[in-house]
Amino acid sequence: MTTPSPGDVRALCARALDGGILELAELEALLAIDDERLAGEVFSAARVARERHFGDGVFLYGFVYFSTYCRNDCAFCYYRADNALSPRYRKTMAEVVAICEGLASSGVDLLDLTMGEDPLIHGDPGYLALLELVGAVRAATGLPVMVSPGVVPESALRDLRASGADWYALYQETHTPELYARLRVGQAFAERVITRRAARAAGLLVEDGMLTGIGDTAADRARSVAAMREAGWPQVRVMTFVPQEGTPLADVRPAGDLAELLTIAVLRLVLPDRLIPASLDVDGIRGLERRLAAGANVVTSIVPPTSGLAGVSNAVLDIDEGYRTVAGVLPHLKRLGLRPAGTAAYLETLERLRVAGAAPLPGGAAAPAPSRAAAVGSQAPPP
Ligand code: SF4
Repeated sequence: MTTPSPGDVRALCARALDGGILELAELEALLAIDDERLAGEVFSAARVARERHFGDGVFLYGFVYFSTYCRNDCAFCYYRADNALSPRYRKTMAEVVAICEGLASSGVDLLDLTMGEDPLIHGDPGYLALLELVGAVRAATGLPVMVSPGVVPESALRDLRASGADWYALYQETHTPELYARLRVGQAFAERVITRRAARAAGLLVEDGMLTGIGDTAADRARSVAAMREAGWPQVRVMTFVPQEGTPLADVRPAGDLAELLTIAVLRLVLPDRLIPASLDVDGIRGLERRLAAGANVVTSIVPPTSGLAGVSNAVLDIDEGYRTVAGVLPHLKRLGLRPAGTAAYLETLERLRVAGAAPLPGGAAAPAPSRAAAVGSQAPPP
């Protein structure tokens, strides 16, 4: 794939801003840009798209990684089951509620309750501990709640919604099955696809996400962008892979952030009215402005200091220093001419997304879902 000319880039961005559908090859052309100045054209168009739908408002998400135990062995993950170097903890419900109350009073708009696929919680077919936790956090804070528990059965998705969860996050990481098989080792590709669809059917807002810097090409990233567009998820994210000690990918040379920034911008162009995070978990506070300038409109992974909580990609970066707090984020928003939109605006956005999220966007119908039983029994093709 040759890098497109400045004229091509401007034409593609203008077409996207006019509501035109970019084909897969056109997405790939934008995602293959390797020149910061040319990339700036895409970021600029993405900011126009964001401004049209969200003005200067940005939403803030608190992040509580409440259990770092996991039964899986994702190749990229610090918390994979067989990593003896990974710190393991499981916060009690009282601890999680207290942390969430602190985050709520600091000004976040949502509480993201994340865990590995903790065998203790997944060992209970009723997921009662998780349901109780969601209900308690919701009751104590009144804020929207996102849960990221990994793959759970349909009954649990319905129960999570009934317990007060608004969001269910489940990242595919890549929509290229061959690459998926190398990353999410031993986990069925289709099962995650089906589980996201089941979550939407259960009334949950759904977030999908992808990883870059992990052997992906611009074509792989274009496939992911197209898949997320076709599904029309209300929130979509991309994060750059951070090599983790004790894992099979520990020695991978870290990528720069250009692929992530371009992907944020292209996601904004194809899903202009959706929520797109700038995660503090990749580059900490120093990477925040670049991600917002690329078109993100949510700051995620705000973690309170001295809570003993870890991040996902970066277990400790900027947490104890207190930079990953609402107070630490505000000066960066101000420098970009942005501001916290506030929880009332966030609740209005959720209502809009609930309606919009019920139907896929134009750009191609999603493939019919295989049955869950078939998916569980299948594996993505080997690399
Ligand atoms: S990415 Fe999630 S499911 Fe995979 S090993 Fe890490 S915590 Fe477990």
